[in-house]
Amino acid sequence: MAKMCPICGNKIKFLKNFELKDGTICQDCGQSIGLDDSFVSSVEVTSILTIQNVIDYKDGNTKIDPKQYWTDYKSNKKQKKSAKKAAENARMEKIENDYVELMDEFKADKAWHVGKVYFDDKKQQVLVKKSIPERMAYERTLNFPYSDLENYDGIEDPTTIEKKHGVGRSIVGGLVAGPTGAVLGAFSGGKSYSAVSKVAMILYFKGNYHIEATFLSTDTSTSSSTYAAVQRSVMQVGHDLDKIIADNNASTTMQAATPSDTSNSTADDLRELKQLLDDGILTEDEFTAKKKQILGI
Ligand SMILES: [Zn+2]
Repeated sequence: MAKMCPICGNKIKFLKNFELKDGTICQDCGQSIGLDDSFVSSVEVTSILTIQNVIDYKDGNTKIDPKQYWTDYKSNKKQKKSAKKAAENARMEKIENDYVELMDEFKADKAWHVGKVYFDDKKQQVLVKKSIPERMAYERTLNFPYSDLENYDGIEDPTTIEKKHGVGRSIVGGLVAGPTGAVLGAFSGGKSYSAVSKVAMILYFKGNYHIEATFLSTDTSTSSSTYAAVQRSVMQVGHDLDKIIADNNASTTMQAATPSDTSNSTADDLRELKQLLDDGILTEDEFTAKKKQILGI
């Protein structure tokens, strides 16, 4: 069965038609807007034209120049592509500039750090130091206000020197000197290891962000002075973070206790209602009924 032209309704003849982006139209309809079989460019143009485009041109009595149309289309597409690239470059440049500027400010404030995580007590912010490719992988500069800190966890990975590296290998901080009980309870959960491969804290921020602050990432004997120093740092940082979280919780509680807008608007509603009574617009009964409704009694 012969196909009908979706524009004029006539039969579409074999080889005398135009294949558009979304369907086939008859030769007459195509030629009426300037398409011509004799031009290769017509073929290119039909691949981007829709039936609706042809209807619109036909209704507007407009003919297109297939060659020009294609050229315009290509240059328009190129422009859009380069505009998109420019926007992406601008976005990355902004992230980079924000980061460099912020890191300078952190340094000026003598921010302290755990591994790559910097804490600026003056600014009350945390900033993660990252390489340029790492920074570009994120949609934003990785800085977080202290007030967004919700929680933190400790990580302490035990390591068995013998198993990992063979007997007698010396490790950072000295040789393993038998079991030690001096492992921070909060981190190890009471277990004691002879050596650890990593000591870190995961900081959880509002918005589902978490970052890792690494104190130690080399095999270290738990009886070494290096480990003892790490423990002191962990306790100090834990203490600081506890205080920040406690402050955050306190301010959240205070916000919750502050009278809400709802109660203000209730008072406003009642005042307005009383005015209506005073003006004689409402009767005493109507006023009382409405008042009860507003107060929910
Ligand atoms: Zn037609």
